[in-house]
Amino acid sequence: MKDVVIVGGGPAGLLLSLCLQEHGIAYRTLERGKIGQTWRDMRPGLVLLSPAVPGTDWTSLTLHHPIWALHGVRRPFPTREDFLCYVDAFARENRVAVAERTPATAARVVPGGFAVSTGEGEIGCRFLVVATGGTTTPRYPEIPGVAGNPCVLHSSDFVNCMAYDGKRVLVIGGGNSAAELCVELAGTALVTLCTRSPLRYFSETGELDHIRGSSESVLKELIRFRILGLREGDPVVSVNDRLVRFRSGAEETFDWIVCGTGYRPLWLPVSGGTVKTDAEGFPVISRVGESSIPGLYFCGSLAMFHRRCAFIHGFRNYVEKVFWDIADRL
Ligand SMILES: Cc1cc2nc3c(=O)[nH]c(=O)nc-3n(C[C@H](O)[C@H](O)[C@H](O)COP(=O)(O)OP(=O)(O)OC[C@H]3O[C@@H](n4cnc5c(N)ncnc54)[C@H](O)[C@@H]3O)c2cc1C
Repeated sequence: MKDVVIVGGGPAGLLLSLCLQEHGIAYRTLERGKIGQTWRDMRPGLVLLSPAVPGTDWTSLTLHHPIWALHGVRRPFPTREDFLCYVDAFARENRVAVAERTPATAARVVPGGFAVSTGEGEIGCRFLVVATGGTTTPRYPEIPGVAGNPCVLHSSDFVNCMAYDGKRVLVIGGGNSAAELCVELAGTALVTLCTRSPLRYFSETGELDHIRGSSESVLKELIRFRILGLREGDPVVSVNDRLVRFRSGAEETFDWIVCGTGYRPLWLPVSGGTVKTDAEGFPVISRVGESSIPGLYFCGSLAMFHRRCAFIHGFRNYVEKVFWDIADRL
């Protein structure tokens, strides 16, 4: 019986593991792939949106162990590769113990805690923390003709432009993923961006929700030069194979339709209690991250204490709140 089991060896799970370890609390961290697997699955060369320099560090797991102190990272906006090196070094140098390639498949409430199922059997714990991230399950738009259509893919499937050379590509969505894909593809494919509502820009509003990829100005220039076609506020209403119909009534044929429509929150099934969720499907949590099942906590990007929690700098302080609450109750 461990004091704490953490499911997920991403930034949040690693930081919480370090907190527990530094205070001598017995924990087991389970990771279905390798540590930082979500980042390993992202496309090579991706540039982070969050800066990481002394004084403006939105990327490090903790400011006690900053990414910019890692020899070799000399960019204000690190790449996915920089970040993965940092996460690996963070876990190794702090001797954070993670059971890799050990997915947790389910959990159940038992007297005095939880039993967590893995391929290697059940692990008992007093407190269970789910840190499996908010971006593991792609969200597709609910548009007739999208589900099961072989011409439709998700932004998370995109690896490189070379498969799109000279193709007509429609990118659906007005957020970061859609913006970044348009910038990546614009020189290679004939790209049209289609949004539900008018595009908003971080430089104009200062809202994190309005960041449009790692280079807003390039996106704007692509639109201004008409290198990128824009259907702003003209959403797709139906798809028939490659033929797309927009709300305006216009119809166009594309080779590929890429959904930059984000992710939906999902986590392992927990029996013996009910995790209450909010309108967007995130778990309802207390000020210290506890869910409607006593002893079951959420942390990281799955725990929406605040909208900023989609980013590391938004959730890293809240990981400590989860830690202190559990430590106080042990
Ligand atoms: C394209 C993209 C770009 C992004 N750019 C930025 C950025 O620039 N800056 C920023 O701050 N954030 C960015 N984010 C958000 C980023 O994902 C989060 O900030 C951060 O990774 C969340 O950390 P986490 O630990 O909560 O979740 P994750 O990083 O998703 O880690 C969760 C871990 O849990 C594991 N897991 C899942 N299910 C199980 C299971 N059943 N059993 C065991 N293990 C499991 C996963 O393999 C994964 O390793 C980006 C996200 C995407 C998709």
